[in-house]
Amino acid sequence: MNTERMRSLGEKRSVIRELFEYGNNRKAEIGKENVFDFSIGNPSVPSPKEFSDELCRLIAESDPLSIHSYTSAPGDLSARTAIAENLNKRFKTAFGPEHLYLTCGAAASLTVSLSAVVNEGEEVILFAPFFPEYTVFVETAGGKPVIVPCKWPDFQMDFEKLEGAINEKTAAVIINSPNNPSGAVFSKESIKKLGAVLSAAEEKFGRKIYLISDEPYRELVYGNIEVPFVTDYYNDTIICYSWSKSLSLPGERIGYILVSPKNPEWKALYAGICGAGRALGFVCAPSLFQHMIPKCIEMTSDISVYEKNRDILYGALTEMGFKAVHPDGAFYLFVKSPEPNANAFSEKAKKHEILIVPSDDFGMEGFVRISYCVSTEQIERSLPAFKKLAEEYSL
Ligand code: PLP
Repeated sequence: MNTERMRSLGEKRSVIRELFEYGNNRKAEIGKENVFDFSIGNPSVPSPKEFSDELCRLIAESDPLSIHSYTSAPGDLSARTAIAENLNKRFKTAFGPEHLYLTCGAAASLTVSLSAVVNEGEEVILFAPFFPEYTVFVETAGGKPVIVPCKWPDFQMDFEKLEGAINEKTAAVIINSPNNPSGAVFSKESIKKLGAVLSAAEEKFGRKIYLISDEPYRELVYGNIEVPFVTDYYNDTIICYSWSKSLSLPGERIGYILVSPKNPEWKALYAGICGAGRALGFVCAPSLFQHMIPKCIEMTSDISVYEKNRDILYGALTEMGFKAVHPDGAFYLFVKSPEPNANAFSEKAKKHEILIVPSDDFGMEGFVRISYCVSTEQIERSLPAFKKLAEEYSL
């Protein structure tokens, strides 16, 4: 059964990957500039120059044995201390290195956290739309995904549906704000209410229900939008973070798990996280980038490019008649398909050389995701093609 599942996971190609590969072939056929590829969420802004300079200095000036060697399993103490101090300064919290566990990116943070808190057959609530890998991660941890759709058009949580979905088997709830694929950011009121609902459910069912907050896009917000710090609103919170997007380092695989000391059982939870990391064979997070953390903890890539792209794309598409969620963060625009079948819409867009991802794999039908982490020039060049697509639907 397990071998079959692994084989089918390996053989099944994600829609995003398929579109991306189709795009590469198409670019070879008709020229790169003639394909408007919005399929993939790879940061298009490089890491800041100070980051590369520090990295070169670290390599040049350090003992190679020390920077490439194993660290302790939870991670280098100076890296964890730097993260805790940075969080405490920004969010007036009281974390220490003992609450942090360094990982190979947000994906590893999620798989380790889920393994630590989910027992075979227990349920994990996912708010749709969600990052497609969540279902794979939950099922691998032995859990069963339970999907609760967010509300159109603001994509905040639907508490009536959430309360209906929680039961004695609920082990965890995953949130992702700023969200991939909707770009929505959960408001402070929503997070506060979520904390209250989960506390009441813990009381009612006499069990822990962990809130796993997946935050690779925390730093990618535009305007005066605030991303509430979740441990302020719910004690049984686990934060999964990575620098994949905020510092444009997705290939370097570096992130962390943070457990809240406000959870009276945090030491047991932390031990479970260490155990899960061990069982899953992670050993330690990449050593070189652990050593970079104290040097780059205050750095972020230049996100003004994403904000500009968002403004151009959201403005132009809604003007053409498309309906979309206004993205306050991340680098995705979630557009309502003008016909019920988003796959058919994505296929029609392909005829105009526009590559956009139908939403079915994000746990919600009837939308497409447009990744605007591309050059502003690509967005500007693509607008006449979007206009033709809008005309095809008489928008
Ligand atoms: N969570 C979400 C919502 C994502 O969009 C991604 C990557 O795109 C991940 C997790 C995985 O991030 P990482 O590359 O840090 O593992």
